[in-house]
Amino acid sequence: MQWTLDRCRELYNAALDERKSVARRIVPIKFCGNIAILEPEKTIVHRQVSKLDQSRQLTEIKHELRPEYNEINDHVLRNVLERVDLAFKAFFRRVKAGEKSGYPRFQSYTRYDSFTYPDLQGWKVIPGEGRHAKLILSKIGTINVKLHRPIQGKIKTATIKREGEHWYVTFACEVESEALPVSYEDVGIDLGITHFAALSNGEMIDNPRHYRRAEKKLKQLQQALARKKRGSHRRKKAAQKVAKAHRKVRNQRKDFHHKESRKLVNKYQVIVFEELQAANLSKRPKPKQDESGKYLPNGAATKSGLNKSIRDAGWNSFTQMVKAKAECAGRTIIFVDPKNTSQICSACGVKGPHKDLEERIHTCTYCGVVLDRDHNAALNILALGHKQIA
Ligand SMILES: [Zn+2]
Repeated sequence: MQWTLDRCRELYNAALDERKSVARRIVPIKFCGNIAILEPEKTIVHRQVSKLDQSRQLTEIKHELRPEYNEINDHVLRNVLERVDLAFKAFFRRVKAGEKSGYPRFQSYTRYDSFTYPDLQGWKVIPGEGRHAKLILSKIGTINVKLHRPIQGKIKTATIKREGEHWYVTFACEVESEALPVSYEDVGIDLGITHFAALSNGEMIDNPRHYRRAEKKLKQLQQALARKKRGSHRRKKAAQKVAKAHRKVRNQRKDFHHKESRKLVNKYQVIVFEELQAANLSKRPKPKQDESGKYLPNGAATKSGLNKSIRDAGWNSFTQMVKAKAECAGRTIIFVDPKNTSQICSACGVKGPHKDLEERIHTCTYCGVVLDRDHNAALNILALGHKQIA
């Protein structure tokens, strides 16, 4: 599989190189052996190299240049060219839309980590007992695989992916989307740090304990890694351990997000979130100086701690999961402006003073209501969502 992956990466980079050099060739040049001759009198028609052009060359490459490409499934190779094509299409689309756009990049060993069977040819999966199954890949062989969940619907593609020292197969399947029966309960959700989420009905969702434990372990391993001498064998070992712990934390977080988003979508009809502004929040605060030019504390330390929590909670990936599941189930998902959601009193609507992060309770001096700070915010978010619908 690694051998196939290496060849695919080589092909990807070569296909990218061809497209790049054609795009760069502004002056008409004719080659005589190694000498380049300028031919300014010749008008040249500029045409992008297409996927089809490259696909045609593949046959030639197999016959003459690289017979070892015959050892790779043809559809897998064509998918590599498809990927290059998609990278360019995305690039041109962003350029046209006036967005900042990076030119498609050459892929390194670490970045290029998968190859795809784009249809049903060249591979087969045979279910065995329990979670065991056999995966037959043409030109590669038969591999024992463990199914993490039953395959649903009709399989369309199979992708083989390397992650650290592990290999995974991912099947993209076509499933009928099933709308859930209508629910008469709506919810506003405040995503936070003390609790993972506060719901407008007063419920709190907390990060699972095993996840927090894995996180602590990761931190210890990172510290151990920092103590090891550069280039040493022990450092390499420690780095592998850190990568493994990272993967564990990542998987646990994903699992937690999937489960919680499923519960929300099953239970509520309208789900309201705050529009996330993580990008703004993660910005480093500007350095503050007094008149004499001395630097004053600017809260960078607390912000970086906060940054970490924001990143780790992975709010964005969570709301995206809820959104995807909601669309499938015929639920409504709304994002509202988070401005003042923690200051306004959800009971009487009067805007109170700014709250510091440590202030956990909302107490209204106007109507006297006392609520958990995040619960109050969740109620405001739900109200904003209802206003938006109306
Ligand atoms: Zn009030």
